[in-house]
Amino acid sequence: MTARIDPKRYLQLGGVAPAHSFNGSTTLAYLQSKGFGDNYLEQSRVAVGRGAGQDFVFEPGTANYCDFCARPLMGGEFDLLQDGRERCVTCSRTAVTTHEEFVLLYQEVRRNLEVIFEIQFNVGITVRMENAKTIARRTNERFEPTAGFDPRVLGFGSKTANGYELYIENGSPKLPSIQTMAHELTHIWQFRNWDESAIHAKYGARNHLFIYEGMASWAMIQYLYSTKETDFASREAAHTRARQDEYGAGFRLFEERYPIRVDGRVLRETPFKHKLPL
Ligand SMILES: [Zn+2]
Ligand SMILES: [Zn+2]
Repeated sequence: MTARIDPKRYLQLGGVAPAHSFNGSTTLAYLQSKGFGDNYLEQSRVAVGRGAGQDFVFEPGTANYCDFCARPLMGGEFDLLQDGRERCVTCSRTAVTTHEEFVLLYQEVRRNLEVIFEIQFNVGITVRMENAKTIARRTNERFEPTAGFDPRVLGFGSKTANGYELYIENGSPKLPSIQTMAHELTHIWQFRNWDESAIHAKYGARNHLFIYEGMASWAMIQYLYSTKETDFASREAAHTRARQDEYGAGFRLFEERYPIRVDGRVLRETPFKHKLPL
């Protein structure tokens, strides 16, 4: 016996009519109401399909930008936070709020970093959510919201007697949280694997930040491309490239030596493979 199955009608299971108890459109609506169909994975897939690696260009002065993902804000479709920051609808929806969600995300980023860059952390790292005020105080950043994109540090890492601690801003959306984790974990890798005095001897102590922040910025952007967060990656790359500080200048140095791979292929050369990266 041969049953011809039309793949478009797989629910009919070999030609049998769909079960009466199964209501396709209600099921679809139910799944969509639970967040399926428009989650960040789907958005990444759509972005990949739309053409990976196209450079994002800022249009200064013409629009407001989300302070978390740098997407232009359309009409009234955004939240104005108490401290003046503007957050787009997508970022509001993906804010990481529970501790469990946060720890799972952290574990995923750590694992991905190890795979993408062929490294091992081999060290205890405590990860904590903190409020924006504490983060700003501990990183000595000043924050003054404007209509444009207001970049700021969403976290920091520090060394303690018991290992390392990683602080990330409470309520940050998923992608900026991931990016911050990748950036700060790169610093922890640097602390563990680089000989600071050798780095200073080669590049000069006054260039410390160019080397350390340049590589951490390079790694976070390469991480985003390697995990197919192409839209967000190209916005962050454009923004970082345009920065006039050590982060921007350092990123440009690293990008020149280690061109960013936007196509998701295996990385041949990365700064993680060198004691003296440039
Ligand atoms: Zn946003
Ligand atoms: Zn940094």
